[in-house]
Amino acid sequence: MPEHQYKHRFTKIIFTIGPATESEAVLEKLIRQGVDVCRINMAHANHDWTRTIIRRVRSVCQRLKREVAIMMDVKGPEIRTGDLEEPLELTAGDKLDLTVDQGIGGRGEDGVYHVDVNYPAITNTLRKGDTVLVDSGLIKMQVLAVEESRVRCEVLIPGPMGNRRHINLPGVRVHLPCLTDKDKADVGVGIEEGVDFFALSFVREAADLDYFHRYLKENDSAARIVAKIEDQQAISNLEEIIVASDGLMVARGDLGIECPFEDLPIIQKRAVQLCLANSKPVIIATHMLESMITSPLPTRAEVSDISNAVLEQADCVMLSGETTVGKYPVDCVEILQRIALKMESQRFPTLRTELVLKHPKAKMQRAAAYLASELEAGIVIFTNRGMMAQMLSSLRPTKVPLYAFTENATLYRQLLMLWGVEPFLIAFNQEEPEQTIQTAFTLLQEKGLVKTNDPIVVVSNVMTGDTIFEAIQLRRIVL
Ligand code: PEP
Repeated sequence: MPEHQYKHRFTKIIFTIGPATESEAVLEKLIRQGVDVCRINMAHANHDWTRTIIRRVRSVCQRLKREVAIMMDVKGPEIRTGDLEEPLELTAGDKLDLTVDQGIGGRGEDGVYHVDVNYPAITNTLRKGDTVLVDSGLIKMQVLAVEESRVRCEVLIPGPMGNRRHINLPGVRVHLPCLTDKDKADVGVGIEEGVDFFALSFVREAADLDYFHRYLKENDSAARIVAKIEDQQAISNLEEIIVASDGLMVARGDLGIECPFEDLPIIQKRAVQLCLANSKPVIIATHMLESMITSPLPTRAEVSDISNAVLEQADCVMLSGETTVGKYPVDCVEILQRIALKMESQRFPTLRTELVLKHPKAKMQRAAAYLASELEAGIVIFTNRGMMAQMLSSLRPTKVPLYAFTENATLYRQLLMLWGVEPFLIAFNQEEPEQTIQTAFTLLQEKGLVKTNDPIVVVSNVMTGDTIFEAIQLRRIVL
């Protein structure tokens, strides 16, 4: 086994499960290789498969005694074209009408093409001059005129159009419910199977997340919500979205269609910084190792892109097609691991001394992060809601792992998404907090993570008489 598999990795790895990775054998390899979160993309999954996969992931984890969190990615509101008599071979200058409820699309007697869209408000939403992109931008059209029952477009960049193609409307404010009926049915399965995260596609404002949080609460789910930012409206509302979410995904696939692609690196950097300031985890997604869907080695540009995400201090990097249909899913994870460890081993401090956390209780975490970084001492915390771990992690203490102990099994898996955090599930001794600390030390020593006399910073409650104080203690491991 290569040496790097034994080292603490700060940046977390998310893989998307699919035909290339769904077998027990490949799952076992990925989990041993160190993936932290398994994403299920509901754009391509049915309910039976989803249930089978969730149970399989859990059972392989149990067998290997290494947990991964499960994130169900719900499709959200998506605009699509309808069915066609036959694929359209569009050429530049062709006219095409977007319609609603007109049935099968095709070419009219006047030579104008027509196709339905699943968005009844299309005629109220689009204006003359707007851009309509089909199939991730492969076909580009411009709106010539909006009439009562159709939107007439001119094809600028031509291409073949098949049935039910994805539509993007860059810069256009779309009015769609944040959870469709299909999403609600999918979420129901996720709740029943106890997924740890839901990722919500096309989040446009904080209200979308407030609605989804209420929905989960009403349905007794403790899952957390990751907001996928994918269009210009989300970028305009970025900070309110981060505040209202439990984490953010920079979904660079759709974002690169909805926004000028040269804006992507700036959006990514801003998203990471804002997430850190608000103590929310941030995921960099899409095309990280795209070439490895078919090639055994990454391109040099992909290596630089991953390194950049690690140096920006994102919490997670994510694989999509690379692990759903790619030929080299396990190698992809190994390569992410190698690059992350190399970048993290460079001699610069990661502690964000300049960062002013938005949380009112952040001062104590700041002191603990500073102390641990100065002394190169690991940090031990005890948490049942995870906020303390989120704050400490977001300060990015330099070269010190953050060992987070919790009694809550769901939180334990949710902590896997946080930069630098290694979670543990233990029972707390409510009467004697010192006993809980000793249990934690013993576990760390058993796992070979600390040895006698190592300095360690403990952030916990301390009982003095009848009063409980929050305390930062500098201790040495003595067992
Ligand atoms: C993306 O667009 O980058 C993304 C992650 O979303 P999806 O894979 O669901 O299209």
